[in-house]
Amino acid sequence: MLGKLSFLNNSIFLSVRCRIALCCLLPDTSLRAQTALRSPHFIVYNNSSVPRLAEQSLARLESLRSAIQALHGESWAAASPLRIWLPKNESQWRNLAIHDSEQGQFSTGPAYQWIIVNPKAANFLEVLSHEYIHAVLNQAFPNLPTWFEEGLCEYYSTLELRTKGNRSSALLGRPPNQRLKELGDLRSIDIIELGSEKLKLNAYARAWAAAYYLWPNYEPGAPLPGKIAINDFPLREITIALPSTQSKFSPLSTIEMAELEIEFRTTTPNAPPLTAAGQAANNAEQIFLDGLRLADQSNPSAAIPLLEKACNLRPSNSTWWQALALTYKEANQLPEASKAIARAIATASSPSETTSALTLQNSLTPSQLP
Ligand SMILES: [Zn+2]
Repeated sequence: MLGKLSFLNNSIFLSVRCRIALCCLLPDTSLRAQTALRSPHFIVYNNSSVPRLAEQSLARLESLRSAIQALHGESWAAASPLRIWLPKNESQWRNLAIHDSEQGQFSTGPAYQWIIVNPKAANFLEVLSHEYIHAVLNQAFPNLPTWFEEGLCEYYSTLELRTKGNRSSALLGRPPNQRLKELGDLRSIDIIELGSEKLKLNAYARAWAAAYYLWPNYEPGAPLPGKIAINDFPLREITIALPSTQSKFSPLSTIEMAELEIEFRTTTPNAPPLTAAGQAANNAEQIFLDGLRLADQSNPSAAIPLLEKACNLRPSNSTWWQALALTYKEANQLPEASKAIARAIATASSPSETTSALTLQNSLTPSQLP
């Protein structure tokens, strides 16, 4: 018993310890969480005092996603579901922002990707769209020069959809924010200079203008010109085929929200403190470790209630369901083991988690299954 369980769960111990170490560094006071909504491809956790911000964000992201895919193909999409965190207010955003002028962030975590946007950003939906394009390019067009990536994020951030009868079109090229004013009477962009400087806020206008003139004819990997002449920026209207389905939004359960909070803290060093529900879910890690210790001491009957409790508090953790399934198996509770394995398979978030859950499933002989 002990050998098998320890062998399977070495990685569980390690990942749990890493997470606990991270969480211990964070403050412990509660904050009032607001709402979390999911659409087919996104989840928005909204701490701000504007409930409609979550719906507006999901509506914008789903339509932008459809438009970008219609323009460039299905590979132009971010990993799904992409998570969006809206801080409570400007000061909470400032704790998370890296630079003073920053209004949004895109970051990749161990399992999921996150966008964070200042809920008080003057052009909130443009900032959100800009960060979404980072997530798309991260998948579809990696290794672009930084200025070009930022320029494309700016370019698509102002995409507008127009629908007349059965005909839809994407309107592109509207300068975001103050970009046209910032360009002044500049008539050429020095690409070599843009590529060599640290990209500060005042370079975004040039990056946007250069992307406008290079895109969409630029071929990935093709040499870039040293200078680009710029003139006007007429709007580009491109007819696209859009799916007619309307995205549905649904709220997350309290447990799902608590897990989302913990996941956000794992990937974000200055994340705000957990809510009471988040704290309860966080305590599940200690309960799980206590259960695992008892299981390793060949005491499955004492281990099972603890492991069950931990799994119910954090139900999206595949490796925990596997540990519970293995303990059920050791206690000869085979129908329960089979159900726990089904949960482990359903919640697996990586190929290795799926493989180990399936291996465990195969270890139950057909006669042992319910
Ligand atoms: Zn950016």
